[in-house]
Amino acid sequence: MTRLFFATLILLIPATTFAADMNAFLKSVKPDATKLGISDATFASATRGLTIDPQIERLTRRQPELVRPIGQYIERRVGSLARSGQGKMRGQRRTFERIEKTFGTDPYVVAAIWGMETGFGGNIGKSDVFRSLATLAAQKYRGDFFRSQFLDALLILETEGLPRSRFVGSWAGAMGQTQFIPSSYISYAVDFDGDKMRDVWRSVPDALASTANYLKEKGWIAGQPWGYAVRWPDGLAREAQTKSWSEWHKIGAKARSGARFPRGGEATSFFPAGAEGPAFLITLNYDVIRDYNSSDSYSLSVALTADRLRGGPAINLKWPSAETVNRDQRLAIQKALRARGHVLSNDAGRITRDVRAAIAIEQRRMGVLADGYPDVDLLRQLNR
Ligand code: CA
Repeated sequence: MTRLFFATLILLIPATTFAADMNAFLKSVKPDATKLGISDATFASATRGLTIDPQIERLTRRQPELVRPIGQYIERRVGSLARSGQGKMRGQRRTFERIEKTFGTDPYVVAAIWGMETGFGGNIGKSDVFRSLATLAAQKYRGDFFRSQFLDALLILETEGLPRSRFVGSWAGAMGQTQFIPSSYISYAVDFDGDKMRDVWRSVPDALASTANYLKEKGWIAGQPWGYAVRWPDGLAREAQTKSWSEWHKIGAKARSGARFPRGGEATSFFPAGAEGPAFLITLNYDVIRDYNSSDSYSLSVALTADRLRGGPAINLKWPSAETVNRDQRLAIQKALRARGHVLSNDAGRITRDVRAAIAIEQRRMGVLADGYPDVDLLRQLNR
């Protein structure tokens, strides 16, 4: 849900003297809150005694992120979530059945997100949501993003009938069992246990249905898989390309799990660690997962965990150990692509489907294998 992917950060941060001013922030945001219909009582209850969280200040003033190799991350997460997830799903069997019927989203993907975000509800965070969001907003971290999340959190407190004490979350203000940021909560959270409150913290049905609804609203195509890890056809160049499932079948691509491709629909080849690494065929449903948290490590972990929860076999993928590019390098790649006339759907360094397609076009122009993979070589070549 465009929540920032903090799990990849390695926290080696020097102490800082950066001074964000909480009182100045609260004073500046109050008129906007009033305009939104936030009562004085709600504002006071949310902000009473609020101080800057020095820990968050340190987290945001980190050095450039160190990115763990994608394969190492995925293997570890999928293994442990697949082991613990089946029991958790059994405990919510009726909820998952209702979710599939109501939203048409894959219940195993919803369960995998639940596992990835909070270990199936075991770790929903301990930070006060208002304090976290106000600290990030006071710092102007990522521009106005957290100011607007802070206002949305106020709106939730004003209108949902939930106690002030419920508002705990991650240090970046993600809330509940599947870690909704306030703007996502407002747009997509649903009441699924019938008590008229959207309690994504304590009601597992509410949290899971909210996630299913989010996926549905972001374009989940019912009846299509997210994709498959595949055996790549012999002799076919490992390039980014889109074909119908039946064409992929005809030229010899096979799901490593042994699953059969669907009859209808199409899929795009995807090499998340470059041509040397494992090959996948993905549908637009993969992009919907990636929308929840914009990282391929995250999205593939969710996707592969979902398949294991469904009863699929453990798949042994051979990942190259090369490190991926960091955020600054991804931003530089996007800048270089724009300079070459590509129109991209985001300028936040996210390597989404359209960015990979643009990379593949440039790779073809440069006469190198068009696997759509951003690495340091590509950046060097683009800047030549
Ligand atoms: Ca409820």
